[in-house]
Amino acid sequence: MTSASPASRPRVRFAPSPTGFLHVGGARTALFNWLYAKKYDGDFLLRIEDTDRQRSTEDSTRAIFDGLAWLGLTWDEEVVYQGANVAQHYADAHRLLETGAAYRDFTPPSVIETLRAEAEAKGEGFRFDRSLAAYSESELAAKLAAGEPYAIRFRVPEGHTEWIDLVHGRIAFPNKDIEDFVILRSDGTPVYNLAVVSDDIAARVTLVMRGDDHISNTPKQILLYRALGAHVPEFAHVPMIHGTDGKKLSKRHGATAVGDYQHQGMLPQAMLNFLALLGWSTGDDTEVMTLDELVARFDTRGLHAKAAIFDTKKLEWMNGQHLARLPIAELATLMAPLFERAGLATVADLTARHEWFCGVLELLRIRARLTDEIVAQAGPFFTDAVEYDADAVAKQWRDAAATADVLEATHDALAALATWEPAAMEEALRQLAEQRGISGGKVFQPLRVALTGLTVSPGIFDVLLYVGRERSLARILAAVGYLRSPA
Ligand code: GLU
Repeated sequence: MTSASPASRPRVRFAPSPTGFLHVGGARTALFNWLYAKKYDGDFLLRIEDTDRQRSTEDSTRAIFDGLAWLGLTWDEEVVYQGANVAQHYADAHRLLETGAAYRDFTPPSVIETLRAEAEAKGEGFRFDRSLAAYSESELAAKLAAGEPYAIRFRVPEGHTEWIDLVHGRIAFPNKDIEDFVILRSDGTPVYNLAVVSDDIAARVTLVMRGDDHISNTPKQILLYRALGAHVPEFAHVPMIHGTDGKKLSKRHGATAVGDYQHQGMLPQAMLNFLALLGWSTGDDTEVMTLDELVARFDTRGLHAKAAIFDTKKLEWMNGQHLARLPIAELATLMAPLFERAGLATVADLTARHEWFCGVLELLRIRARLTDEIVAQAGPFFTDAVEYDADAVAKQWRDAAATADVLEATHDALAALATWEPAAMEEALRQLAEQRGISGGKVFQPLRVALTGLTVSPGIFDVLLYVGRERSLARILAAVGYLRSPA
């Protein structure tokens, strides 16, 4: 395949149609283009392909902006709205008409429909026969004078059209299989293939990287570039995304909108890392990468031709990996608003207790794959009282009277400590166990329920440390009270 390093300053683009939310497949395509631009010091352009006025919505355009912003895929230059370029599309179609690369077709749509139905009835594909639009000069003049509406069709030349795709290698289409396609409808609106080529020429795009569902459009687009006398860019058609059952990714497989993952507690860097591996790999086993590492390692030679599998379990795993690796101060900045939203603390509180908050996050992130799970485990560090989980009580506080005694002794041993430090706490509690002739677990497990209400938590001495002396001691006494006079 061709070398990965482009000759001129690269210009790539992401060109979504704003007809729904930002799909993970779209975000993946945007990411590949973005990585390419960063890697080769080029420009990443955003074009909103809103020519389909009926299906395009402002909400969808906003969802695209929001999704890209969350992922940090910032674009260079002003956003281009395709709808604003129709005059150029119109002019390009008429230029092709003047050079003879295109022709007017006055065939009424109803006639085309009849011909199409007839061909289909015979089990044949319909292809426009250009002899239908072979008008004499006087016929043409009469139709124009009468103001008859016409479409403009591209005159597909003989031969074949080929390109070296950066993903698939050489792809060739015999031109006889391509019909003389419409480029401008009779109402003056451009057809997709013309609009996209016209816009990509105007934007001086050097590489078109998009989903491989567009492969069949590419020969038509290459023919248009040539007929317009423009430089043909490179093409890279990236694979479709399937669910774990091998079928095209759809809502059946779970969330397909980038925004949904944002709201499920995914980190943008984990989402980016996961998306990057949908149709691309480094060539070695490296999977967990920061955005900088992705930029450094991205290479179109690592793009795959076969469909990528979207596995939500892997995404969650990836998120856990990034949660574990994120510099703790960054995690704190990211998590503080989530704690505020959950009503546990304000961002201002957390900023004031930055070191303590970072310590709590260090403890909680070990068991979490999602940011939401960190918040869900955080209660014991923030609230005054804890709720006792029924299973935890049944398991660790079975003998209420004996447990109350052990907890009381635990309280006294901890209260007697001169410093609130894990090593001292551990020594005191191990001594207590020994004195009572019980195992350490018989002290630590009931204590864990007293402090957190749960059977699972970070290490018990870390919990004591971060819940703090006063709160811990009060909580142990509350447990003793609860066990001696259960409601
Ligand atoms: N607007 C097209 C789409 O959303 C993409 C066109 C292109 O990338 O060439 O599928």
